[in-house]
Amino acid sequence: KLSKRLQQVASLVPNGATLADIGSDHAYLPAYLIEEGRIRFAIAGEVNQGPYETAKRTVEEAGCSERIRVRKGNGLEVLEAGEVNTVTICGMGGGTIVDILSRGKDKLTGVRQLVLQPMVDGDQLRRWLHANGWRIAKEELVVDEGILYEILKAEPGYERYHDDLWYEVGSVELLRHHPLFPDKLKAAIGKIDRVLKSLRKAQGEEALQKQEALVQKKKRLEEVLRLCK
Ligand code: SAM
Repeated sequence: KLSKRLQQVASLVPNGATLADIGSDHAYLPAYLIEEGRIRFAIAGEVNQGPYETAKRTVEEAGCSERIRVRKGNGLEVLEAGEVNTVTICGMGGGTIVDILSRGKDKLTGVRQLVLQPMVDGDQLRRWLHANGWRIAKEELVVDEGILYEILKAEPGYERYHDDLWYEVGSVELLRHHPLFPDKLKAAIGKIDRVLKSLRKAQGEEALQKQEALVQKKKRLEEVLRLCK
């Protein structure tokens, strides 16, 4: 059975899509979408031999070899430009996802949506998307086995956030009614509290400035949290 996290990712893939799942590991996501009849064709890309073989096994056992091509290679190099209209990259750090997208930019022509699930550094990813001709059309949050995950759906377009906070926690406009957004904000506040605690002993102008910036950010997060209620 697909994890709650990947089910939420799957729900953002449009029906009838042609999909490339990069860093597919076991290829559970494309196999699920094919088995459910949700998509027509998928490519599962993997850079590492072990997961590449696991992916091939999943696809063979599911009898999906006609519809899912498992390819070995780094990031988007497994794709031909125009081959798919949807790319998913999940379960990696935001920095790694940015690296894969920027190295493979030429492969993204014709791609109508990216569905991305960064484990950390979502801010880096949001900034990269905005700087490279993508707008964030949807943000999703899901708790799976006690861990809160964020998922972004981007489409070609132009957009900028005027508030840096939105790059860090996601667009408040998109997320303010999401039932899990308060949890996300509380987690961000908790993280700031921990840093502030460790900074309390530090001395000097730089430490003070850092503390002040964090206190301001915490205030902003608390404001947004109040807005959600
Ligand atoms: N996408 C799956 C998920 O969300 O459950 C698997 C996530 S797993 C933690 C990350 C996978 O990405 C690993 O199998 C790893 O080998 C693969 N990977 C990491 N960097 C990659 C790259 N540049 N190109 C292709 N695959 C990569």
